[in-house]
Amino acid sequence: MEIQTEAQLDKFKAAVAAGVEAQRKLAQVVNDTVFSFGELAYQEFESSKYLTSILEKNNFTVERGIAGIPTAWVARWGSGRPLIGLGSDLDCIPKASQKPGIAFREPLVKDAPGHGEGHNSGHAVVIVAALAVKELMERENLPGTLMIWPGVAEELLGGKAFFVREGLFNGVDVVLHTHVHDQFATEWGSPNRSTGMVSVEYTFEGEAAHAASAPERGRNALRAVELMNAGWDSRREHLRPEQRSHYVITNGGDQPNVVPALASVWYYVRETDFANIKKNFEIANKIAAAAASMTDTKVTRKLIGTAAPRHFNKALAEALQSNIVKAGMPAWTNDEQTFAKAVQHLTGGKEDGLRTETSELQSPPPKPEGGSSDDIGDVCWSVPTVLMRYPANIPNLPGHHWANAIAMATPIAHKGIVAGSKALAMMLVDLLLRPELIASAKDYFTNVQLHNTAVIKFLEPADQPQTHLNSDIMARFRPEMRKFYYDASRYDTYLEQLGITFPTLTKV
Ligand SMILES: [Zn+2]
Repeated sequence: MEIQTEAQLDKFKAAVAAGVEAQRKLAQVVNDTVFSFGELAYQEFESSKYLTSILEKNNFTVERGIAGIPTAWVARWGSGRPLIGLGSDLDCIPKASQKPGIAFREPLVKDAPGHGEGHNSGHAVVIVAALAVKELMERENLPGTLMIWPGVAEELLGGKAFFVREGLFNGVDVVLHTHVHDQFATEWGSPNRSTGMVSVEYTFEGEAAHAASAPERGRNALRAVELMNAGWDSRREHLRPEQRSHYVITNGGDQPNVVPALASVWYYVRETDFANIKKNFEIANKIAAAAASMTDTKVTRKLIGTAAPRHFNKALAEALQSNIVKAGMPAWTNDEQTFAKAVQHLTGGKEDGLRTETSELQSPPPKPEGGSSDDIGDVCWSVPTVLMRYPANIPNLPGHHWANAIAMATPIAHKGIVAGSKALAMMLVDLLLRPELIASAKDYFTNVQLHNTAVIKFLEPADQPQTHLNSDIMARFRPEMRKFYYDASRYDTYLEQLGITFPTLTKV
């Protein structure tokens, strides 16, 4: 790179980092507002309305209802190339309602959903970075298009594969995805302890009868579910140890004296590569058919979601890593460290507080172990993609748990978001000014990533997003939850609105 360009890059990066710093308040308000909405997969109505209104106020053009999902949208600003996608997830976790800033269990609304993973913070990172970069692009007349989109229904792996099928990423040069974490980190290749998966519901149909006076006339769909689960649990011992699989019974019948004519069980079948996901999915289908055969019931299946195994781009990860180092870890106060240790103590996690250093660039392990999935995997196989984990939560918590919500509307989250937003904004400067970076990202994507893997798409043309899911739960809880929506016009922070002094370590 020419010296002059290098100096200009540094100058522009300093400008966008200052731009993010100037929007610290906006970052806090966006984070706290989305936290207070606490919306489950496919029900992100308030969150989406709120975020798109901010983007429209800033002259982004918003398109809604992407891929037939009412809460999905895409916001675009700018013109010409590069076309850069910026994403983060949005939905929350069932029964994880929790007051922030207190190191003990106290829900905002009992049994209601809550941000027990921290997806409320992602769009604060993305929007603040995008606005800082937009300002620079306007001032310096830089060509390029920013495309912001939300990972709706990530917890059901029910958004991104549908977006890909819809063509949302056609023509996009690169995607930068962000996810809440306790690390400030990025990686390339397939991350360790990760999987891809299918999310599939099997429904058995039998025949109702009086369970006591005419049991011989019934054919019991619940028994079919039980036999399927017993079959899967036995077969599991003979699957590769990398697999992860779990199920919940979503319909077990109505009452004991009626032979259940309908019963359903919902499986997540996870493996580390496409071929093994397909293999285990076929085994599950075979076991379902066998259970139906044993009970003289009929079985049908519905694919609810899929997530391809993730694979992140090497060139993008290397560039992002240097911006993460440049942005640096937030400087945590003693109060924040003490609070983090109290929350770790509360959940039985290792009590070592918040991380103080950014992580090394992570490369793929020689032999990956199984772990969780994220449907960003589907985007990874369509466009060169990289993931930034920003440090807005406490380490060593259980995940998908109310305790993971505790820090998510406190100064810990607010500071982690600003750090993440700076790294993202500086990465955008690299992408706008260094066409060779996009060229190397595309070269890796085509000649290494796609060259070495046979991609399998699990969505069939008939599979549609199950957008009715969670609507009954939200209808039940929303009236109570609404009383706790954050009113940024009256309160400086959500903690202030709730009357919580940060940090509160014990119940008074
Ligand atoms: Zn997530």
